[in-house]
Amino acid sequence: MNIPAKKKQFLGACPQDCPDTCAMVYDVEDGKLTKVTGNKEHPITRGGLCVKLKDFADHHYNPDRILYPMRRVGEKGGGQFERITWDEALAEIRSRWTDIIDEFGSEAIMPYNYLGHEGTINGLFVGDAFFNKLGSTVAEKTFCASGSSTAWLMTVGPSGGVDPESFAHSKYIVLWGVNTMTTNLHHWPIIQEAREKGAKVVVIDPVSTRTAKAADLHIRPRPGTDAALALGMMNVIISEGLVDDEYVAEHTHGYDELKARVLDEYSVDRCAGITGVPAEIIREFAREYATTKGQAIRLGVALERNHNGGQAIRAITSLSGLVGAWRYPGGGVLEMPLWEFPLNYDHICRPDYIKPGTRVVNLTRIGEALTEPKDGKPLKSLMVYNANPMSQAPEQNKIREGLMREDLFVVCSELFITDTAKYADILLPACMQAEQEELMFSWGHFYFTYNHKAIEAPGETVPNTELFRRLAKVMEFEGDDWQRSDTQMIKDYVNWDSHLMEGITYDLLREEGYARLKIGDVATRTPHAEGNFPTPTGKLEFLTTQADDGNFVAPPWRSMYTEMQPGEAVDKLPSHSEPYESTVSTPELAKKYPFSIISPKSHGFLNSQFANETTQQLRQGEQVVIMNEDDARNLGIEEGQMVRVGNDRGEFVGRAKVGTDVIPGVISASLGYWPGLSLTGTAVNCVSSDRNANLGMAPTYSDNLVGVSPANLDNISPGSDAIPATTDKTVVRA
Ligand code: SF4
Repeated sequence: MNIPAKKKQFLGACPQDCPDTCAMVYDVEDGKLTKVTGNKEHPITRGGLCVKLKDFADHHYNPDRILYPMRRVGEKGGGQFERITWDEALAEIRSRWTDIIDEFGSEAIMPYNYLGHEGTINGLFVGDAFFNKLGSTVAEKTFCASGSSTAWLMTVGPSGGVDPESFAHSKYIVLWGVNTMTTNLHHWPIIQEAREKGAKVVVIDPVSTRTAKAADLHIRPRPGTDAALALGMMNVIISEGLVDDEYVAEHTHGYDELKARVLDEYSVDRCAGITGVPAEIIREFAREYATTKGQAIRLGVALERNHNGGQAIRAITSLSGLVGAWRYPGGGVLEMPLWEFPLNYDHICRPDYIKPGTRVVNLTRIGEALTEPKDGKPLKSLMVYNANPMSQAPEQNKIREGLMREDLFVVCSELFITDTAKYADILLPACMQAEQEELMFSWGHFYFTYNHKAIEAPGETVPNTELFRRLAKVMEFEGDDWQRSDTQMIKDYVNWDSHLMEGITYDLLREEGYARLKIGDVATRTPHAEGNFPTPTGKLEFLTTQADDGNFVAPPWRSMYTEMQPGEAVDKLPSHSEPYESTVSTPELAKKYPFSIISPKSHGFLNSQFANETTQQLRQGEQVVIMNEDDARNLGIEEGQMVRVGNDRGEFVGRAKVGTDVIPGVISASLGYWPGLSLTGTAVNCVSSDRNANLGMAPTYSDNLVGVSPANLDNISPGSDAIPATTDKTVVRA
């Protein structure tokens, strides 16, 4: 590259919780980050970042960033803080935690961490080893893909599935519960390549998303009934002799049991009744899917977000075995390539530190754990990092009640004073991606992507890795684990000897920015043409052999801790069961709250990240409530009118968007808006229940009934309650 002396470029990697894990280029001038662009060389990124990252350089210089450690000086939740030193912050944390451990035991302390950063060393696993050593309650982190992970492991094992790049060679593509153009943007050009060669694209989604509108066929089942749609398809495939008998005989397990169940219990007419999809459409879709060889299914995260989410993924994944989709390049199912990345999980998370019998608290139930713990054991301290539960977790009002507890010591490491950070007793300043070294794995493709530290971290901000080095020191942990550099962590966390890393070194990643795992050629790869499923039977398991001990959460989502699993009985065959809340399962509740609400991800925000940026607020627009025109007419609601949406758990407001983008009985309101920036101080997750889905303790964000009524609150604009700038002395949050 020909760059003037004071200008430099560094290779970077997007840190967001997004399957695309883009390779980036940082432009730095006189030590300042001036531009962030997509790496043109990277086969997935292809030079373009999404709209969420459009102003990523400016994000680093947002004047509201937390730059120094701070201590709360006003009331809980009042958002008043004063600057303190790192030494003072660490000493206070040590003192409070030591007292809590002496009086209540170490399980009274708990981390709350998720994918606010997705990196190998600063992301989902950072802090696991520290808290396991401390003896804290183990946090079960099951917000996205835990339900699909359990279902996937029970059906095909820890396989990376069909390569997302191989979709260019697929002949029939089903995007099931995923709005690819918004949440997996860089997969879309690959899908288009297949389409240009004649592939058909089908989208299954109750909402007419941008992706659904661009598809060849859009099928709209009632929320939470995807398993019934897949079981109805199976009925057609089996009844009409469309099964790949040879593949089923050699490479699947439990076909006779599946066949009996499907033919006895899931007639096409019954499935049409459950799903609301006409029987003839189910038949045509099943025939096309079964007979167009080279079929690929992309499983969306949305699928798992209801009572029956796990079984829906088992049913949909089973379709691929019935028709032998895995025989062909571009054929099969894609859940998460993450399973192929050779990470030394036990070394990273150190589950060996966890004492047998240590309790587990699921993060979707944090409100309950803080206010009315089922096991009677109190939580006395919560440390939140890489997460914003006041926006993203269910039962927001319960969480707020918990965080307001005077006896709860809350430590929060953050970039900004989020709705959660407001409740901190000690606030710690965290780094952004251009300010730290990192290696990204991906849950959307098969590339490791390296991120150079491009600029100095501002103020006294530190990477999460350094935060835990400091905490380990102040807690007097002994051993080398707690002093390693970030570079050394990257070197220790990856199994470089794996055959998948052949020819890939740390130095190569630093030099070139990314490398594809050695998993085979995009155009010819067929990982399960000959079976070889990593299950106990070596086959795709229609009848799972992995549910004898009941429901479980995949170890990476729980610090690799294998004890104290949820253990509820599991139906070993795919099946349909109604949502917890629906006109069918709870007709009395449905009289009061007649609408099923779904809360998809936003186009402009990444979960709750960037929702405090004015540019992103303008791109995303205000909170919209999408409803069907028939429902709106019945309620006397007009396009553009402000509406209240609520149930017994909470209420938020948004502007009605009336039309046919959702089916009658359904409303859609995207998530990510900060409650504190809204007129009512609430956002969509205040109506979400903390019940878990039937596999993997997945949340049930799309399994809630609400009522809708006119709000008579016109002229509300986003950002009307904007957060004032952070100063180095005091932060006051209204
Ligand atoms: S959020 Fe996703 S699509 Fe956007 S730049 Fe990051 S990795 Fe790429």
